[in-house]
Amino acid sequence: MGPLRGDLLKKELEIFTFGDLLNHFPFRHIDKTAVAKISDINFKTEYIQVAGRLQWFELVGEKQGRRLVAHIKDNTGELELVWFKGISYVEKILEVGVDYLLFGKIGFFNGKPQMAHPDLEIFLPQKAGGKIFLEPIYSTTEKLKARGLNAKAISKLTHQLFTQLQPKDIIENLPNDILKKLQLMERNVAYRAAHFPIDEQEFEFAIKRLKFEELFIAQVRLALVRIQRHKAFKGVLFVKVGDYFNNFYNNHLPFALTNAQKRVLKEIRTDTARGYQMNRLLQGDVGSGKTIVALLSMLIAADNGYQSCLMAPTEILAQQHYIGLTDLLKETGLTIRLLTGSTKIKERREILTGLLDDTIHFVVGTHALIEEVVQFKNLGFVVVDEQHRFGVAQRAALWKKAVVPPHVLVMTATPIPRTLAMTAYGDLDYSVMDELPPGRKPITTVTRNEMQRSKVMEFVKSEIELGRQAYFIYPLIEESEKVNYEDLTQGYEQVKSYFPEHQYTISMLHGKMKADLKETNMQRFVSGECQIMVATTVIEVGVNVPNASVMVIESAEKFGLSQLHQLRGRVGRGSEKSYCVLITGSKSSVESKERINIMCQTNDGFKIAEKDLELRGPGDIEGTRQSGALNFKLASIVDDKEILEMAKFEADKLLNNDIDLIEDKNLPLKNYLQSQKGKTGWSKIS
Ligand code: ADP
Ligand code: MG
Repeated sequence: MGPLRGDLLKKELEIFTFGDLLNHFPFRHIDKTAVAKISDINFKTEYIQVAGRLQWFELVGEKQGRRLVAHIKDNTGELELVWFKGISYVEKILEVGVDYLLFGKIGFFNGKPQMAHPDLEIFLPQKAGGKIFLEPIYSTTEKLKARGLNAKAISKLTHQLFTQLQPKDIIENLPNDILKKLQLMERNVAYRAAHFPIDEQEFEFAIKRLKFEELFIAQVRLALVRIQRHKAFKGVLFVKVGDYFNNFYNNHLPFALTNAQKRVLKEIRTDTARGYQMNRLLQGDVGSGKTIVALLSMLIAADNGYQSCLMAPTEILAQQHYIGLTDLLKETGLTIRLLTGSTKIKERREILTGLLDDTIHFVVGTHALIEEVVQFKNLGFVVVDEQHRFGVAQRAALWKKAVVPPHVLVMTATPIPRTLAMTAYGDLDYSVMDELPPGRKPITTVTRNEMQRSKVMEFVKSEIELGRQAYFIYPLIEESEKVNYEDLTQGYEQVKSYFPEHQYTISMLHGKMKADLKETNMQRFVSGECQIMVATTVIEVGVNVPNASVMVIESAEKFGLSQLHQLRGRVGRGSEKSYCVLITGSKSSVESKERINIMCQTNDGFKIAEKDLELRGPGDIEGTRQSGALNFKLASIVDDKEILEMAKFEADKLLNNDIDLIEDKNLPLKNYLQSQKGKTGWSKIS
């Protein structure tokens, strides 16, 4: 290939090497012996191969609309072909009266089928009707097509490459025992079959092997990061569980722990007793009781003479944690303080001094905790609550506050699907709390439309009359620059029209409010002074008002699934039966309808997370890191769950037995990993 086209391949498809070309997999195969009739084309036709004689071609249109149009005809009908780019090249090669074999995607233009930018070659009838030949179809770009590098040309290049390749050029990277056990195709065979399979079965076999390889290598890398960090970062050693913990556990714990809470606590205890830094992700559904697990861990830190901090994503949440924890700790003699952006200077100074001289044991706060000036005498335990709001760098900044890095417990706001956690957070140790405290009643969730509003309002009224409180949640419409609170303020007026001021008190909360006003308004709702809270999603995380039993979510179709679930988690926190009403507009998309349906069907955050992943794909899920971890060429964490589970199982097993990859059978893997060094951003994770 000449340098011009070579450069274009680099620019357009990032194909720099033979290896890149091999990894540019076809997105489908077509059976080249199957030639369809033109009359077979209908509205459902996508890609099709037809053969016919060229009738005429001509240039039509001006400037931007300029295009080359042609007609071919077989004995069943005519089909229009069109080119918008590369016109002069195509014009040169077309010849009226010649029979062509054409492959392409059918589009409809004014109701008439049309094939734009078809792959085309001269039709040789003797080729057709022979044995099945699956031709790979590659993605390409308009620019490449204009240079003659259409799908067919890329296929030719790839084919050419395979004629020159020796089996040893594609080196096996998986251990033999795994290949045998899982009956996986050898690597070089799999590459060839993925591009040029004999039949469909061989193709599927090849793809399975290559997907496994991708996921397995990713899991090995993640496990290596995890294990190497265990080795590299000496951690604070919590030698004992002492009086603070025992006294609290035996005398002040307000309830019995669930089995899940006990299990996770044990995992944390084991981690912190080993002398290596703990990096643990705690996944639990909304309301599963993560906070108490964090507190008990912090008590163990205190028993060993270490300070702890708990970082929350919003001021409101930090405040609530502070109030809740202060109450729990009141008999323990431990000191806890709150540090946020709005902490007054004098108090702030006091706190900074207290942290340095170790008179403060626990500090709860927001991002303010990350600032340089916040230094500790001996920070030993860090809790990051509602993880997805914090970046990796921010977490790392917290560790730096001690010579020996503190243990880190990251808690998610809502569950992440297992497959996603395995890939995006596979470098962290990982705990799941899949059990809610006893006595929780499922929240009844229904969907209503605008026409049913007065009924909804009547219902809310009846709940308030029973002494409960209600939330009204409005979406935030983010315009390019300023955040627009129109929906919220209009909503406030509307709520007021149903709940007149002489009878009801209504509080309002949104992100742009001054911190002290926010606090006052929140406090009025917490204390029960007002019955109704009108808010944006600032209320989303963590806020705990057990007496609130109804949540009305306006324009529910505008929210994501995990957000709806998190919002709904604000009710159903007390002993009363709770309700969530999703008000939807008439113009919901199919996908948003599906979201709403799932919400009405289940309260299970893990199920909801799975569905969210299915609907949106991994790229958009809140709380996933933008890392190389999810960029697979062939595999998908949505569709290939089983292969992923296998890959993780095998990767963990292999590294548990041979962490340094010194066994003979693991040498190919070791060599492969070394050859790939620097090609991904893996080392940067964590
Ligand atoms: P989340 O996991 O969403 O952060 P929280 O820690 O806020 O949940 O706990 C939710 C509520 O459940 C709190 O009111 C808490 O006191 C209560 N809770 C936690 N664990 C238990 C338990 N084992 N038994 C009863 N109530 C519990
Ligand atoms: Mg919480």
